[in-house]
Amino acid sequence: MHKEDQPLIFELTKPGRIGYSLPELDIPEVDMSEMLPEEYLRVEEADLPEVSELDIMRHYTALSKRNHGVDSGFYPLGSCTMKYNPKINENVARFNGFAHVHPLQDESSVQGAMELMYDLQEHLKEITGMDEVTLQPAAGAHGEWTGLMMIRAYHEANGDTNRTKVIVPDSAHGTNPASATVAGFETVTVKSNEHGLVDLEDLKRVVGDDTAALMLTNPNTLGLFEENILEMAEIIHGAGGKLYYDGANLNAVLSKARPGDMGFDVVHLNLHKTFTGPHGGGGPGSGPVGVKADLIPYLPKPVLVKKDDVFTFDYDRPDSIGRVKPYYGNFGINVRAYTYIRTMGPDGLKAVTEYAVLNANYMMRRLSSAYDLPFDRHCKHEFVLSGKRQKKLGVRTLDIAKRLLDFGYHPPTIYFPLNVEECIMIEPTETESKETLDSFIDAMLQIAREAEENPEIVQEAPHTTVIGRLDETLAARKPVLKYVKQ
Ligand SMILES: *Cc1c(COP(=O)(O)O)cnc(C)c1O
Repeated sequence: MHKEDQPLIFELTKPGRIGYSLPELDIPEVDMSEMLPEEYLRVEEADLPEVSELDIMRHYTALSKRNHGVDSGFYPLGSCTMKYNPKINENVARFNGFAHVHPLQDESSVQGAMELMYDLQEHLKEITGMDEVTLQPAAGAHGEWTGLMMIRAYHEANGDTNRTKVIVPDSAHGTNPASATVAGFETVTVKSNEHGLVDLEDLKRVVGDDTAALMLTNPNTLGLFEENILEMAEIIHGAGGKLYYDGANLNAVLSKARPGDMGFDVVHLNLHKTFTGPHGGGGPGSGPVGVKADLIPYLPKPVLVKKDDVFTFDYDRPDSIGRVKPYYGNFGINVRAYTYIRTMGPDGLKAVTEYAVLNANYMMRRLSSAYDLPFDRHCKHEFVLSGKRQKKLGVRTLDIAKRLLDFGYHPPTIYFPLNVEECIMIEPTETESKETLDSFIDAMLQIAREAEENPEIVQEAPHTTVIGRLDETLAARKPVLKYVKQ
């Protein structure tokens, strides 16, 4: 449903109008039929818009203003860490020596870029408490898969070929069971208890000599810190399995607790979340993986090493699981993460965690007056509410999310995790001011009042956006509707 008429680019078309000027051709024109097989040659003119450069500039600028991003408004999308990405990262990523190096350049000519990667690995080792780190994986899920492939190689090298199962709590991020499946494992679900934490009795029930690993999202997707980690580590290690830490949301524990100290063997980080790589729209990301010493032989190759102050890629890694990405990872995102770590410093990184947790708890407490709080305990960087109370009034969580658009907010994550009815999952992040948190809280409280007094206004939201309520299924299945020329 279009509310405001911004013409489509095709509707702006004036036949013959163009947005470029090229010098006249002074070489013979190429006859494409001599270059390509007949079947690939275009028979009709391409249906392209005909507009001036200024028309197209204004068109896309207008469209961009309809978009929602961290730079334009609050974006409390749970489990996604949509925090502010400092612009100094962008300046550094654009340095000639970083932006214009070629991955096939001779090592001797890119020592600076290699030193940055090496230093970043060293910082990540310190932050996670791991013995070695690879920067190759391109995202969180890719890191999970890489870590699991190493665990698999480790078990196989020990002749332990019966370990076919990966245990995943029901409060894990959805990518965990998916990565385990893609890595060729069977996933076994372990239940959460009434406090939202892994049920240790259930864990003891499912663990066995076929357990390859436990994958733990910590804090879990309810925003809760798994308190019984040492017991879990004992149970899994006791059975010969490995412990995998999903550290995508490390902003909840950064500089306070380290997966390596908790007994984890493998961890992945999302540099595009905690370490301020701009993300959304599918990439690029960076999902480095850290491992303990006994998994080092299986790291993806090449491994970046330093010999007598010279950086080089070591390809002589007979037990490596192989390359997991062309070249050496998403270098540009790694430059941004490195810049972030260096500009924040150790005290800054500690403050990240403190504010992320403080902001989430502040918001959770204030919102619990109007919304159900399924797990009433301190949260970490995010928390979940339930829209159960509002549902009884005929207002669903989806309606609440749509109504938030009228206040200029990107809605939180909804209907996930699945074990909470009418779930609303909010991650305020540490970069927001108290004023922003308060305005969002006020909007949420107003929506709760509207649900009681005037539910239609919520049920029919959004009222102020360019596009009204979408058919969610159609929008997902058919994101681009073909324009039909009148
Ligand atoms: C975002 C996230 C992932 C997946 O990361 P991608 O980069 O999107 O693949 C995995 N686990 C958790 C806990 C996450 O929040």
